[in-house]
Amino acid sequence: MAFEYAPAPESRAVVDIAPSYGLFIDGEFTEAADGKVFKTVSPSTEEVLSEVAQAGEADVDRAVRAARTAFATWSALPGSERAKYLFRIARIIQERSRELAVLETLDNGKPIKETRDADLPLVAAHFFYYAGWADKLGHAGFGVNPRPLGVAGQVIPWNFPLLMLAWKIAPALATGNTVVLKPAETTPLSALFFADICRQAGLPKGVVNILPGYGDAGAALVAHPDVNKVAFTGSTAVGKEIARTVAGTSKKLTLELGGKGANIVFDDAPIDQAVEGIVTGIFFNQGQVCCAGSRLLVQESIHDELLDALKRRLSTLRLGDPLDKNTDIGAINSAEQLARITALAERGEAEGAERWSPACELPTSGYWFAPTLFTHVTQAHTIARDEIFGPVLSVLTFRTPDEAVAKANNTQYGLSAGIWTEKGSRILAVANKLRAGVIWSNTFNKFDPTSPFGGYKESGFGREGGRHGLEAYLDV
Ligand code: NAD
Repeated sequence: MAFEYAPAPESRAVVDIAPSYGLFIDGEFTEAADGKVFKTVSPSTEEVLSEVAQAGEADVDRAVRAARTAFATWSALPGSERAKYLFRIARIIQERSRELAVLETLDNGKPIKETRDADLPLVAAHFFYYAGWADKLGHAGFGVNPRPLGVAGQVIPWNFPLLMLAWKIAPALATGNTVVLKPAETTPLSALFFADICRQAGLPKGVVNILPGYGDAGAALVAHPDVNKVAFTGSTAVGKEIARTVAGTSKKLTLELGGKGANIVFDDAPIDQAVEGIVTGIFFNQGQVCCAGSRLLVQESIHDELLDALKRRLSTLRLGDPLDKNTDIGAINSAEQLARITALAERGEAEGAERWSPACELPTSGYWFAPTLFTHVTQAHTIARDEIFGPVLSVLTFRTPDEAVAKANNTQYGLSAGIWTEKGSRILAVANKLRAGVIWSNTFNKFDPTSPFGGYKESGFGREGGRHGLEAYLDV
């Protein structure tokens, strides 16, 4: 594996990061009530990027009150007027996409070719898509006059900071709700730049409020009595805690949690295409993807051939400076996440699975983990069951389609799966038996704002995206 740390100063220069940022409440950037701040660092260099105000309970209360006040006028606007704001936001995101892509890469650690070619185009697409819905809600099977719920409290993770924000905010605003959103503590910056975009678009104050902070701020938001709808993406453990908080209230709840996606490769699959899909499935965003294809289920007769091809391909991946447009594998988002991945990989070895990585020199500063394959994995192994949320692929085998389905479904999760075969009838037969919210065939990790996304079992409930994504924000 080649490792080149080519500086790309011209890329870095497109974004102007201020030394400090406030909370965004009622259209203004403001300090936290208790004056607390925290630092956000670039995971590829450990450089401090900025100091950010840290929201506490009093700030949550202020933001919810601002959102409640704004709700009266925002929800009374004709849908066509709300659409204009959303279209304006979408266009500004497009205009500023280079700046936002660099910012996201700096704060998150993911390669610029992903933020530039996947995250940012999808973020804009979500705002365009839901802008188109804002004046058509009465014609979409929700009844003649579907009503917004009120104030939405939204808590998002660090793996796709701006895209998760778009998934949450675009449908909420299109349906006439107002928002208080808490970004993850390791990636607050793109949400704060989004706040600036809201101002640039002339969005009325209080419609969107952004509260950087830690889990305590998220918990206070979820528990706030004047929040009508809670939307959460993150770990299953926190999702369950939130479900307990919301139980017994009238709040509506959607949860997007973890996953342990199976990528099933049959013996008639086009091997080269499957290898690309497997690589995308688990190494996109360093595997820090809830719908990652983290379990490879390969038909026994092609195991050796597929593994040889996969190892050859992994040896060509470039790990290093995420701002270099040739980089395939960037940094892990935080020291904590790196420690979690490292511990699970060590557990895989200790339990007897065989570990392999391409020859690879890791940078000396920042948080890095080499692409890793585990073979001789059984369903009993921890690495076949627990979500690793890192660039680690567990390889299992099967003999028959029924065995593939049984193994794919043998998980507490149910978010994603992939099927690789030339037989259309087999794709349908297998897909119908899989308990997963998203199933790709002969591709992986493809997203579109028109498609609903969400899980079965401990991957959560509710759908985001598409027409179904509107339901979570409406009383019908
Ligand atoms: P997390 O669930 O701890 O954090 C996600 C968000 O929830 C963050 O904004 C966090 O500040 C907030 N939060 C934390 N505790 C909270 C609480 N009690 N109430 C309300 N909000 C709270 O996830 P993490 O620590 O960032 O990652 C841990 C694991 O979660 C990962 O290893 C992975 O398995 C999973 N994860 C899943 C997704 C996904 O998209 N499904 C995304 C990120 C992480």
